[in-house]
Amino acid sequence: MKTRSKEIILSGIPAAPGVASGPAFILDKQDFFIQPRSILDKEIPIEIARFEEALIKTREEILSVQSRISQDMGVRHAQIFDAHLLVLEDRTIIQEIIKNIKKDKVCVEYVFSQVMKRYIKAFSGIQDEYLRDRTSDINDVSKRVLKNLMEETKIHDLDNLSEDTIVIAHDFSPSDTAGMYNKRILAFATDVGGRTSHTAIMAKSLGIPAVVGLKDATLRVHNQDYVIVDGRKGFLIIDPSDKTKEKYNIVKSKIAASKSRFDDIKDLPAQTKDAHRISLMANLELPEEIPTILKQNCDGVGLYRTEYLYMNRKDLPTEEEQFKAYRYVAEKMAPHPVIIRTLDLGGDKFASSIDVPKEMKSFLGWRAIRFCLGRPDIFKVQLRAILRASVHGNLKMMYPMVSGVSELREANTIMQEAKNSLKKEKVPFKANMPVGIMIEVPSAAMTADILAREVDFFSIGTNDLIQYTLAVDRTNEQTANLYQPSHPSVLRLIKKTIDAAHAAGIEVGLCGEMASEPIFALFLLGLGLDELSMSSLNILQIKELVRSFYFKDAQEIAEETLKLSTGEHIEEFLKMKLKKYASHIFSERK
Ligand code: PEP
Ligand code: MG
Repeated sequence: MKTRSKEIILSGIPAAPGVASGPAFILDKQDFFIQPRSILDKEIPIEIARFEEALIKTREEILSVQSRISQDMGVRHAQIFDAHLLVLEDRTIIQEIIKNIKKDKVCVEYVFSQVMKRYIKAFSGIQDEYLRDRTSDINDVSKRVLKNLMEETKIHDLDNLSEDTIVIAHDFSPSDTAGMYNKRILAFATDVGGRTSHTAIMAKSLGIPAVVGLKDATLRVHNQDYVIVDGRKGFLIIDPSDKTKEKYNIVKSKIAASKSRFDDIKDLPAQTKDAHRISLMANLELPEEIPTILKQNCDGVGLYRTEYLYMNRKDLPTEEEQFKAYRYVAEKMAPHPVIIRTLDLGGDKFASSIDVPKEMKSFLGWRAIRFCLGRPDIFKVQLRAILRASVHGNLKMMYPMVSGVSELREANTIMQEAKNSLKKEKVPFKANMPVGIMIEVPSAAMTADILAREVDFFSIGTNDLIQYTLAVDRTNEQTANLYQPSHPSVLRLIKKTIDAAHAAGIEVGLCGEMASEPIFALFLLGLGLDELSMSSLNILQIKELVRSFYFKDAQEIAEETLKLSTGEHIEEFLKMKLKKYASHIFSERK
């Protein structure tokens, strides 16, 4: 029942720009907020079938993890999963859940979570230590089943939106967000998340305004509330007043007007007033983004995040399928270059077809190149596909998250094996396709001079470089204020990398979110970076910025910036310079 009479403004983290308004749809809540959704008699068998499917899926998952652990760590370690399977197959629990669905006529998620909570409570109070220890098994299994039940609901709910909607959720994974393409979603807002989480990046690429890290939005908003999402400032406004609605109508027309202003510079080069040229490239997650990228008339794709090919599916993409995807992007963008980044799973990105230990959910764990070196079977399939596509268009390739030269050499050895196998099969590929690395781990930036001798180019990944330098998780809203791109340590590592690359005569780009923020693009321009790669929708604004400066002024600004001692001071300084030289861009970014 609605009792609200005044607008409520929730403040979160701006994740993807733009403004949208419309009815809210609350997608999901945290496990403990699952609501008892009533069902009709005829829906009872459907709920029971969903329950059975979730049990089967969970069983398959557990068996697969068990077999991997058994291979990697030995049978003894894998035995723990026998206890999980026993919980999953417990007839008493299963019968009780089915009985309650029939009796209470509510959705299976609710019944399941209630029954499991009761068991967990009962077991945790038991005297016998062995039995008490089973609590964590029950908890683990219960989470897995619930996840499978809720994932299915989530996808189903987004597919069936009957009107243009603003979706509010506790969290979205990057693959959930990828699934929003072409659905009736005007914008979204979440309780958790950070500015450079892959969920935020994906929303930006798809042009869906988003605010994350709102903490309790799912509790404050009701279904069908009228809401405004302001993705530039990070606001979610519930039941806005007429005055606020009017204000946002003006904002929307201003945004539209600034877009038409860019038409004038679309065909002009990205160069300063004194003709210093910088390449402006697009980051690409889904091949569906190609038409939008082509419209920006940019210099190519500076980062193709291939992991999305592995998500939202039950199996791994075959070599043939990958080859076709890479060839498609290469051909569409030709003659411009496309930098394909090899698989970067882990951290906040997962493929449902690859079972990985829980540890992988850490940004400090088995992620990106580490995962690929540990699974050469998966890695080699991708490398063969990229090599095969290299004869089409202008392809380059880079490895993510390299921390030092040994890792690079190990990756190159597998690359050589992929080349040898293709040669043997007489399959054509470009033997000298440029191979680079991402510089996104401080150890790589510190040894950039060594690495530069063994690669064709660098691309600086600041989204990760910032989190690893400052020890701040990029997806955590609690520490978002400490995630500071302007921190002097980050700027120094960037400079060190650029200088090392240029000393070795190789090119260096930057493909983190910093590339699309005007104040940082100005600083990077001044440092002499060769290429900025970003979400395609930001390219024209950055081109406008580049065209507003003399290179020598940007160089002076960069030099002055590096003398300052705090992130706050640096941001203030760069804002002041932006205001002085490009006031229209400054006022838009406020
Ligand atoms: C980065 O870390 O800056 C980067 C571009 O890679 P990703 O955001 O995919 O981790
Ligand atoms: Mg990265």
